[in-house]
Amino acid sequence: MSALLEIRDLTAHYGDFQALFGVDLTLRHGEALAIIGANGAGKTTLMRAITGIAKVTAGTVALEGKRIDRLAAPDILRAGISMMPEGRCLFPSLSVEENLEIGAHARKGNGYWNLSRVFELFPVLAERRSQPATALSGGQQQMVALGRALMSNPSVLLCDELSLGLAPVVIREIYASFPKIRESGTAIIVVEQDIGQALAIADVVHCMMEGRITLSGHPSELSREAIHDAYFGVS
Ligand code: ATP
Repeated sequence: MSALLEIRDLTAHYGDFQALFGVDLTLRHGEALAIIGANGAGKTTLMRAITGIAKVTAGTVALEGKRIDRLAAPDILRAGISMMPEGRCLFPSLSVEENLEIGAHARKGNGYWNLSRVFELFPVLAERRSQPATALSGGQQQMVALGRALMSNPSVLLCDELSLGLAPVVIREIYASFPKIRESGTAIIVVEQDIGQALAIADVVHCMMEGRITLSGHPSELSREAIHDAYFGVS
């Protein structure tokens, strides 16, 4: 698998506060990566730096060999990186279908994803397409947020804390859509606090602590002890 997204020596700041310290990360075509770490480790900041929302103060982000770290957020989306944000950020007064269509405004070419493909992925959304997004359960709203992120036909999908506040059965249902998303040609990076879930769905897991990646590997190579030490630091 060749490199799709290459992050090298990335640093990011909020004013004077440095949130990322020299992060390196490679995402290959068709791959799923998980980023785990405790609250405040820098996971969301890394997602925001990739998507142009947080200020990158040094280092590079390249998508298919082209630098994107100096582009504005809407241009990064059009280049093919779409984020499903923590907390969903749906438009409460709009219907399910209208929320999904908003994602199509930044559509990249005639790719795989469109409204009917999203409805195939999550049939319950087709049944409820005319209802306001807020009439749906939390899990269904998360499906809308995921579907909306796919509507731009991204080559990279970023999911921030998609399991937060959802019941295990709902989380499993949403993660069950990942193989189909990957088969469509969209590679995935998930930020997860649920370590078991991250290990179950990812080809490679990166653990972050205090703005740095402290451990990386295939789930089968990572012991519970190593993850614990990388997560909390070795005392
Ligand atoms: P969480 O799981 O709580 O979302 P995280 O790993 O995603 O944690 P970040 O949200 O990226 O962590 O935060 C990394 C660091 O940056 C933390 O110390 C946090 O307090 C700080 N930080 C995050 N957002 C801002 C902001 N808007 N202004 C200043 N500091 C921030």
